[in-house]
Amino acid sequence: MKKNTQGILVIAGVLAVLLLIVLMRDQSRTTETGETTTPDSDSVVQTTDTVLKEEEAVKLVEEPSDVRDEEPGSSEVASASPGKMRYTQYYGHPLDGPLYLSGTFGELRGNHFHAGLDIRTGGVEGKQIRSVADGYVSRIKVSTGGYGKALYIQHPNGTTSVYGHLQKFSGSIQDAVIKKQYGMKKYEFDWYVPAGKLKVTKGQIVALSGNTGGSGGPHLHFEIRDKRGRTVNPLLYGIQVKDEINPFVKSCRLYHLEAKRYEDYGIYGSKRVKENSTTEVKPGSYGVGVSWVDYFSDKLNRLGINYAELKVNGSTVFTQRIEDFTFDQGRYINMHIDYWRYSETGIRYVKMFKDRGNALHFYKGNGSIQVKPGETYSIELVATDFSGKTDKFGFTIKGSEQATALAEGGLQMAGNTKCTPGRDNHLGTTNSKITIPKGALYRTTYFSASETPSTGKAVSPMIRVKHSNAPLHKSARVSIKIPDEVKNRKSQLVMMKYNPKTRNSSYEGGTVSGSYITETTKSLGMFFLTLDTVGPKVTPLKLGKYLSFRVDDLTSEIGSYSCYVDGKWVLLEHEPKSKKIFGILPASYKTGSHDLVLKVKDNAGNETQIKKTLNL
Ligand SMILES: [Zn+2]
Repeated sequence: MKKNTQGILVIAGVLAVLLLIVLMRDQSRTTETGETTTPDSDSVVQTTDTVLKEEEAVKLVEEPSDVRDEEPGSSEVASASPGKMRYTQYYGHPLDGPLYLSGTFGELRGNHFHAGLDIRTGGVEGKQIRSVADGYVSRIKVSTGGYGKALYIQHPNGTTSVYGHLQKFSGSIQDAVIKKQYGMKKYEFDWYVPAGKLKVTKGQIVALSGNTGGSGGPHLHFEIRDKRGRTVNPLLYGIQVKDEINPFVKSCRLYHLEAKRYEDYGIYGSKRVKENSTTEVKPGSYGVGVSWVDYFSDKLNRLGINYAELKVNGSTVFTQRIEDFTFDQGRYINMHIDYWRYSETGIRYVKMFKDRGNALHFYKGNGSIQVKPGETYSIELVATDFSGKTDKFGFTIKGSEQATALAEGGLQMAGNTKCTPGRDNHLGTTNSKITIPKGALYRTTYFSASETPSTGKAVSPMIRVKHSNAPLHKSARVSIKIPDEVKNRKSQLVMMKYNPKTRNSSYEGGTVSGSYITETTKSLGMFFLTLDTVGPKVTPLKLGKYLSFRVDDLTSEIGSYSCYVDGKWVLLEHEPKSKKIFGILPASYKTGSHDLVLKVKDNAGNETQIKKTLNL
């Protein structure tokens, strides 16, 4: 979403975000209740996350997650600061001129950490993208989601640079792409290009920047992956960016790590603490959570923090450094942050303690603070950005038997079906079956499933699975029984997810399996079946050498499309964000009239076909 702030269509949004940033800066450290009453700018980011389903790269070499154990017995750990630079002279820059970021490496996103840098392109597309080193194209992927048009270049030192959300490729790479698309009669493809087929040199223009795929505005998504397939902060490889502004700690929370409900529900008793305040708590084990932001050159983009340390009475007891990770580790972000609070409020508090079930290697120390009766503890949180600029946030904790327990937030009892991480867990109602697979939960969690009669567009009961804001490390499976009344229209049944906060429903998917419609989901909640009987709406916008159509489906989104002119397949691009299908006719189409047929199908198989005569 950071990229959105560059889009000219979201100027109003930018102003709103700026206003919120200003409000947060003014209030966050002084207003105890600010977080519930002030719409935090993070919630703006959150909406982007859902748009931004950036691809979790496939085909990485499977390897055990890279867990570095804490040093046993040491209570004090080294301070967090950027690690050693690697190959500093090896790489050039992917864009000309000074680089400004709209997204940092390791930034917190929905279900993953951001795997690269988002580099600003001045709010426009079409900037020249250069290969950062010699090598050859190892993979080209064109997709309507994820990285959009993406280029992977393998370098002789074993690393791979990745360029995402491109508008188009350049030279022989573009020629190869067009050939591939015409060969497959398809816009989207994922091609592992044979080694050496498309060689490039350092500085060669390989593409033009764009806004394709899950991108909220024009920018370049740039990654460097090491030999083992881990993505590494490109700043460690000598990519230099403008950074003139200090990071900013917005607020801290104190967590009671022994709360009984935490064992069952993963929710801590917690309290927001003011800077320089003293908080009395019952003796026990406590941790600190922090909400922060970094700015680089202006306040347009709120960026992540890669280095932080927690000091107790002057000693560093916990650090985190986010410098590299594998793609299969991304979901652990759900343990890295206070997920419950995030799902309730949209605000991400990063835990400055290592939680159970968190296999990330970002941490040193465990961050747990043992509070004894009558003792005081001076706490200091230090956030550091890559250039070494810091912000500090300090407060004091005092142990007291008389203190009240920290509140657990508005937790509602979730249910009575015990689900555990070590096995497949099954829930269900009369008309549904839900499976939470082995490895999907971080800890034992109690769920409930219920159903209410169908209303509105629903043809099935509404299936509700609580605890819907328990994070899932793997997708769960939801199956809803096909109602008798629509048994003969199975192919048109789709599963929708209802969002009670926005009161909107979104297409989830759904395939027929026996007498059920089944789909997997990254998060539980409310699901129902509806019938999609109407094909996509297709509106011609431009009918000439340049073809453009608006395509929209009310229920199940665009599934596939094909365009033929004079009986021959023609390449058209699909951009779901703008609901457009568009392209340019090949030069072989000369002046005169030509017959065009465009077929567009939704995911329920309903097809809309339009026939037009083109007069060139
Ligand atoms: Zn990105």
